[in-house]
Amino acid sequence: MSAFGFELLAQDGAARRGRVQTAHGEIDTPAFMPVGTAATVKAMRPESVAETGAQIVLANTYHLMLRPGAERIERLGGLHKFMNWPRPILTDSGGYQVMSLASLRQLDEQGVTFRSHLDGSEHRLTPKRSIEIQHALDADITMAFDECTQFPVAQADAAKSMRLSMRWAQLSKDAFKPRGGYGLFGIVQGSVFRELRAESVAALDAIGFDGYAIGGLAVGEGQEAMFATLDTTMPLMPADRPRYLMGVGKPADIVGAVRRGIDMFDCVLPTRSGRTAQAFTRRGTVNLRNARHQDDARPLDEQCRCPACRDYARAYLHHLIRNEEVLGLMLLTWHNLTYYQDLMAGLRDAIAGGKLAAFCAEFEATQSGGDIAPI
Ligand SMILES: [Zn+2]
Repeated sequence: MSAFGFELLAQDGAARRGRVQTAHGEIDTPAFMPVGTAATVKAMRPESVAETGAQIVLANTYHLMLRPGAERIERLGGLHKFMNWPRPILTDSGGYQVMSLASLRQLDEQGVTFRSHLDGSEHRLTPKRSIEIQHALDADITMAFDECTQFPVAQADAAKSMRLSMRWAQLSKDAFKPRGGYGLFGIVQGSVFRELRAESVAALDAIGFDGYAIGGLAVGEGQEAMFATLDTTMPLMPADRPRYLMGVGKPADIVGAVRRGIDMFDCVLPTRSGRTAQAFTRRGTVNLRNARHQDDARPLDEQCRCPACRDYARAYLHHLIRNEEVLGLMLLTWHNLTYYQDLMAGLRDAIAGGKLAAFCAEFEATQSGGDIAPI
């Protein structure tokens, strides 16, 4: 089995076209990872997820440890087999969702004790246990266990939280069992404070990881503050490892972050929006619940290759959504994931061809032009 690795294939300004090698296959970057929270990308068969162009999915440690349990998945042959996704999988550390979903959380130097949002049962996550769970799940990419700093936050509190996460990053590295094709990523914290981000990058670099994620953004700080943080942090990041911006984002956030040198993304937006009638298109977002679509025989996006656009009219998609038909959310999820994957493919080609500036100008012009006129 080949080693976990990252190959930089081309650069255009700060943007990078690369390839990550894992035990379960390669990932062309910049890459978007659909979110498969409970070992399923909601409303999609794994074969269909692959057809959209996705090469890797993200699964959530917090959800899987509570139900069905990491050791049960391990006994059943690991997460790839369990969910019938033979390609790469990244798992998060569970830290973020403990903070956002669990009740009665108690944080201490060693970890966090919490009650399940499902049945109130008590659980504990530590760096060691989080890494152990991700190993049991057989994740190609394991994330270090960190504390997600709240936003907004005072600088002194952000510093305290970041330094705890850096101690946990070392414990995560200590607990990680190296295997060929499997990697461990550290997570840069420090909120929107430049000096704290710099301190965090240096601390992680000293420990040494297979990739570096930027955590604690897309938490309400806004696009301008997010880009400003990337502008000062990205030049400090090791250039020979993949860089992952966690939980981002809207298409325009992704384009802006790729321009600043980010290689990997994940976000619930395309799948969650697919279940709430919001479609992402080349011409911006379209709400298919809107009555303007009820007599419209045209496709959602005439340039899109997905089944929702190829085989159905806007009027039919609107009808499915109005009636809360399962097929409606399946088709919209398929469309949104296809849109995101095609956006990433366009970015990869543009970087490889040295035409990223032109690609971004076209992206912005088309997005701001808005949807086609009603019939
Ligand atoms: Zn489509």
